[in-house]
Amino acid sequence: MQRRVAILGSTGSIGKQALEVISMHSQSFIAEVLTAQSNAETLINQALTFNPNVVVIGDANKYETVKQALAHTDVKVYAGADAIAQVVTMDTIDIVLTALVGYAGLLPTIAAIKAGKPIALANKETLVVAGEIITQLAAQHKVVLLPVDSEHSAIFQCLQGEWDNAIEKIYLTASGGPFRGKDLKYLVSVTKAQALKHPNWSMGAKITIDSASMMNKGLEMIEAKWLFNLSETQIDVVVHPQSIIHSMVQFEDGSIKAQMGLPDMRLPIQYALTYPLRPQAAYPRFDFKLYPTLTFENVDKTVFKNLQLAIDAMAMGGIMPCALNAANEIAVQAFLNDEIGFVQMSEVIAACLDATTNETQPALETLMHTDAQTRIKASKICKSLGH
Ligand code: NAD
Ligand code: MG
Repeated sequence: MQRRVAILGSTGSIGKQALEVISMHSQSFIAEVLTAQSNAETLINQALTFNPNVVVIGDANKYETVKQALAHTDVKVYAGADAIAQVVTMDTIDIVLTALVGYAGLLPTIAAIKAGKPIALANKETLVVAGEIITQLAAQHKVVLLPVDSEHSAIFQCLQGEWDNAIEKIYLTASGGPFRGKDLKYLVSVTKAQALKHPNWSMGAKITIDSASMMNKGLEMIEAKWLFNLSETQIDVVVHPQSIIHSMVQFEDGSIKAQMGLPDMRLPIQYALTYPLRPQAAYPRFDFKLYPTLTFENVDKTVFKNLQLAIDAMAMGGIMPCALNAANEIAVQAFLNDEIGFVQMSEVIAACLDATTNETQPALETLMHTDAQTRIKASKICKSLGH
């Protein structure tokens, strides 16, 4: 029996690698649904190659292009954000991989959980925005959230067979990104091209900028808090430039378990899809001789202010992580559009958090409102900072 997979964001970095994993295990998986925002050409090619039941293009202006290109096939074509949230409930889907980027992952993930679909979760922003609602909903519908993010997959792998043992703390490893060890003065003048050059991973633009600013690690701390039911004080970050140890769990006896391997997202994607099995795969193997030293450093949160902002938002809880995420999405886009500088991203986020009055235990509607309001605020601040 093949498992039928819905890939939300199939044209992105994670989405494409997930399709590689599916191709490599075609006896076990088929692509049932593929979705993309605006990259019609890649979506069409994927549909012609994988022959899914349904494709959805988020940008309704591209509907006709996709529809016509697939007219000679029996692939069903839909368009729009609502359609993405609707298709995940289809009876023929066995697992949903959330590989779309940003806040856009929230409503489709909620719809999939309510439909009882197991979630392979790459879209960390969903847990940052609404971790409490998502984890409660998943428990209520007996849905598993299988982490795809490499750090969280590592922790999940370390926890196998340890369900009755309490976690003392976890260490999320961070490569440090392209600006590891730099000071604030240096960061002021870094360019988009520099920020987009990640030393160890090739990823979508948004997460690559988040990795350079260390916001990614902040978002991952919040993601870990919800996935593994931890308090803020149990989550630590350690810079590990080689990206070989993907994260670690320290138990109450003091023992630490680490999960290792070459940086290759196909591994955590595959593990989420095949859990608890580890089918044979030919990904490149780690060679100890090529890595005689694995090193560890602290992060300077006075330089990488986004990490401190995320930690503060996590500690405040309520709507603050949602506001943090919205401000960050706008700030990253403004930086990618050459509208603001690299360190100004932190200024935008800090100003948005300052201007937000917290509400604890927010309902989904409150979070949606917070997201919308914060985007307006952040856009205004970006304009006022613009050069
Ligand atoms: P990407 O930008 O390469 O791809 C994003 C995908 O989502 C594309 O298919 C795009 O069409 C779709 N999309 C974009 N905006 C959308 C919207 N508004 N509505 C619907 N679909 C939309 O991103 P990525 O690097 O693959 O990352 C995807 C998610 O996985 C992110 O949340 C990221 O944090 C997480 N993640 C990525 C990596 C990685 O190695 N790339 C690692 C860990 C976690
Ligand atoms: Mg990660």
